[in-house]
This record gives sequence, structure tokens and C-alpha cells, in this order.
Amino acid sequence: TADPQVTTGAMAFRGKNAVVTGGAGGIGLQVARQLLVAGAGKVAIIDIQDNLEEFVKLRAAHPTQSVMIIKMDVANKKGVEATYEEIKKTFGSIDIVVNVAGIFNDKDVQRTLLVNLGGIINSSLSALQYMSKEHGGNGGIVVNMSSVVGLDPMFIIPVYGATKAGIISFTRCLGNDKFYQRSGIRFATVCPGATMTDMFTNFTEKIIFPETSDETYKILDRLSKQSVTDVARCILNVLEKEKNGAVYVIEGKRIIPIDMKPHWTGKEPAL
Ligand code: NAD
Ligand code: MG
Repeated sequence: TADPQVTTGAMAFRGKNAVVTGGAGGIGLQVARQLLVAGAGKVAIIDIQDNLEEFVKLRAAHPTQSVMIIKMDVANKKGVEATYEEIKKTFGSIDIVVNVAGIFNDKDVQRTLLVNLGGIINSSLSALQYMSKEHGGNGGIVVNMSSVVGLDPMFIIPVYGATKAGIISFTRCLGNDKFYQRSGIRFATVCPGATMTDMFTNFTEKIIFPETSDETYKILDRLSKQSVTDVARCILNVLEKEKNGAVYVIEGKRIIPIDMKPHWTGKEPAL
């Protein structure tokens, strides 16, 4: 029984070219796969890891489409810029970017900031450069991966949560229509709830407050985790939404638009 909210037309992305960061595994791999199934012409996967077995399968399943694999650390700003230049040259144009790459390790603050928040910033700014109508691109859409814990603080994972909150703020800024008018690029943030992936491997070894580890075990146990397939399907659904700057929770196979109410009463209307 198809849910109309998450059923993307089989050829909805026909001829579109996409970039997916973190596409070697978990949610990102599923996004890349579903984009190909939905007709994307060319898909580039940027990831720090290989996943040769899955990449061989992807190519075999989509022989008439292009799958480009680039091994790159999204924290490496110069490297990400060079990667986009290469993709643009090879693909001709980029229409869609889904920034999924991320890690969980609250014990490594520097790395968490540089990969989760820095990586999203590096890739989004490169996307602006290579997709903007101002620079000869066609415009398009960038979807950035946050989390429900970027909206609702979860006390056991403050460092990770801070990067995810930062991603929402950054992406909402770029999703301002003043930028859109120049670039033709829409920005959206997605905030999935817990999802079954490798991110939960050795989780309690990577939290900073050992006294919360018992509680962490219990919480992890209780969490109902969604599948990467369902989350990826919801992300494709977001790619088809018109609204610029929107924030969506992904939970229970559906996307829930979040009303981000203003709090700063003295803010100039022009801002
Ligand atoms: P995952 O570990 O299965 O996948 C993450 C992918 O990102 C991997 O392929 C990894 O190699 C890649 N990656 C990691 N560091 C990188 C770097 N520096 N440069 C390039 N690629 C890098 O985990 P996942 O659960 O699929 O996570 C994907 C994204 O979804 C993350 O941003 C995560 O924070 C977010 N998220 C996950 C959940 C969840 O419950 N799993 C919930 C909400 C949001
Ligand atoms: Mg992933």
C-alpha cells in the first residue's frame, strides 16, 4: 500500500545530475540508489570510505546512468572545491546536492565540528559556486542532513547535537530568498529521528559523560529506529518540495515541515 506522501514518481529525477556526500553507506548510499532508480542521469558519491561491493552493484543495476565515486574528506575545504570542479566538468551541470556525510564521536570535538558542520558548509558553498545561475549553472536544490537532536537537545550527545543545530541555522540562512533570486538554488534541512545504521556501533564508547552511559543504553534500547530505505525515500520527497529554507523532521515514513518561529522581537524586517 503506497503512501502518497513518500511515493516518488519512478522517473521523477529523469536526467538530473546529483551529488551525495556520505554516499558509501547508511542513509547516503540509499539516497544515491533511490536517485538512480528515480531516473537521475549522473550521480556523484563523495565519501571518505570505499564501498566497492556496493558501488559495483549500483553500476550494474544502472548501466545507462553514470555513477562517479570520489574519495574525499568533506572537512577538507580545498579538496571539496576541487571535487566539485571535477564533477561539474564531467557532468556538465549539477542539479541536486544531498549532504549526508557525518559522524558520531562526542569525544573527538574537533573532528565532529569539522566533519559534521564544516563538511556541510564546505559542500554547500561549493554547490553555490558550481550550481548558481550567476556562474552559468541552472540552479537546483541542496538538502542538508541535520537530526531531530538538532531541534530538541538530547543531553547525552551535546557535541553532536550542537553540530546538528548549527546545520539548521546555516542552511536556513542560505535558504533565504534573497540568495535564491540570484542563484536559483533552494536549500532545505532534514532532521531524521533514529535510523538503523553503523552510526550506533560502539555508541556508548563515544559519549563524553560516562555517568550517562547506563541511561544511554536504555535510551538506545527503547528508541524505535526507522530504516534507511524509508528515510531516503523521504529525502527524495523533500527534493521535490518547492519551499525554500524549509526544515523537515523525518519520522514514521513521513516528512513533517517544522514551523521555525522567530524569537528576536527587535529584529529588523529586512533581516
Ligand atoms: P553511516 O555511518 O552509516 O554513514 C555515514 C557516511 O558518511 C559513511 O559512508 C561515512 O564513510 C561517511 N563519512 C563520514 N565522515 C566523512 C567525511 N569526513 N567525509 C566524507 N564522508 C564521510 O551513518 P548514517 O546514520 O547513515 O549517517 C548519515 C547522516 O545522517 C549523518 O550526518 C548523521 O548524523 C545523520 N543522521 C543519522 C541518524 C541515525 O539515527 N542514524 C539520525 C539523524 C541523522
Ligand atoms: Mg550514510
